Amino acid sequence: MDYLPIFLKLRDLPCLIVGGGEVAVRKLGLLLDAGAAVTVIAASAEAVIVELADRGLIRLRTKVFEATDSEGFRLIIAATDDRAVNAAVATAARRHGIPVNVVDCPDLCDFIFPAIIDRSPVLVAVSTGGASPVLARQLRTRIEACIPSRFGTLARLAADLRERVRQAIPEPRARRHFWERTLEGPAAELALQGRAEEAERVLLEAADAAARQERPAWGSVALVGAGPGDPDLLTLRALRLIQEADVIVYDRLVSTEILALARRDARRIYAGKERSRHSIPQDDINALLANLAAEGNRVVRLKGGDPFIFGRGGEEIETLMACGIPFQVVPGITAASGCAAYAGIPLTHRAHAHACVFVAGHLKDGTLQDLDWPQLVQPHQTVVVYMGLQGLPQICAELIRHGAPPSRPAALIQQGTTRDQKVLTATLETLPDRVADAGIKAPTLIIIGEVVALRKKLAWYRSRLETEGRSGNG
Ligand code: SAH
Repeated sequence: MDYLPIFLKLRDLPCLIVGGGEVAVRKLGLLLDAGAAVTVIAASAEAVIVELADRGLIRLRTKVFEATDSEGFRLIIAATDDRAVNAAVATAARRHGIPVNVVDCPDLCDFIFPAIIDRSPVLVAVSTGGASPVLARQLRTRIEACIPSRFGTLARLAADLRERVRQAIPEPRARRHFWERTLEGPAAELALQGRAEEAERVLLEAADAAARQERPAWGSVALVGAGPGDPDLLTLRALRLIQEADVIVYDRLVSTEILALARRDARRIYAGKERSRHSIPQDDINALLANLAAEGNRVVRLKGGDPFIFGRGGEEIETLMACGIPFQVVPGITAASGCAAYAGIPLTHRAHAHACVFVAGHLKDGTLQDLDWPQLVQPHQTVVVYMGLQGLPQICAELIRHGAPPSRPAALIQQGTTRDQKVLTATLETLPDRVADAGIKAPTLIIIGEVVALRKKLAWYRSRLETEGRSGNG
């Protein structure tokens, strides 16, 4: 190692920054985060520095640096834009045996700053030893993504309850097992959602149960939106819960790429519905989720798009609530957002649409559900139809019959956001025929309104099909 990574305790210790520009401001922020007693020496200083000094949070000496200024400090940072001054600071610091960092000059540094992931009290520091600050930052971004934002809350919970758990479970090995399970269990999940008090209660109950050598109830259900297809569109929380799940109950719309993110030993249960071929009736799914959780599993109920948009999410959690099973709902990107974005069709637009309506257009026994047609034909809005492929001819005919201009732009998007996305653009009058000839595959979404015309200018995403030029891309 070229450097030893250590975490330095600086609370209330005197530290010096020489320089008053933007770089000094950044370093100052870090030292203040660590609670240091900071002095800034600068011939002239940024307004923020002056303000901090006025509020008594730092000491500011407006002067040119001299060697004797460095005495008495525990840490020094040279952050001026003058190489000679920076070198003088380094020499003075070294003479007094004080560790010094000279910005942008690794040769003069006793220590360097890492890229920091701050989930206090949990800290991750990344360094490339000065080889490439950009690389360090990129690595930091990746690590940021896999440490939940409230990881610190979880760590504090563990710290606060450590002693009480030690008393409840005196035997070290049993205690270690308890923590191993708990820090991935329901209490941890509550802490990561920011529900610290509930987390504490659940954790203490679990500790009591463990003390009585009972297995506490670990089961829970997360109703998770898997987004429209592209796995990169999962939320960070969805990804984490999928990776932790014991059982995944998934829908037809959930892509195999997303299922592949689950643990290899996780049970996968298909609960999808094909049109007219129901695999598991809804009541049975509701009961299945409750039973799996009651058996102690961490269950993820994975649904295409967003669970609360045409997803029956409400019905499923009603049952869980009635059974007293802990659950959470994780939103996902709904098909309308995903398809619109990837098709280059903004759902609202200052000039063309001030509102957007989502409707379900499926047929029941061959006829359309009742929709509020007079409302749907209004201008200056976008109508998005889910589940509308079979009913498309009837939907377009009804809209025209209720006064929509036959020339109103309309688009059909097949498998939006995926590599097999296909977009057909036409009008209310012509879309049904175009679709009939195009060999379309479900799922498909219909977007109706002036905004569809913007695709001509704004289309940016080319799926595999569209690049190969096999599509009827309008
Ligand atoms: N909860 C889901 C919708 C479930 S209803 C969501 O929020 O997106 C199922 C309908 O969603 C399908 O019939 C289709 O109309 C639409 N849909 C879902 N994913 C889609 C995709 N990738 N491309 C086009 N339509 C999609």
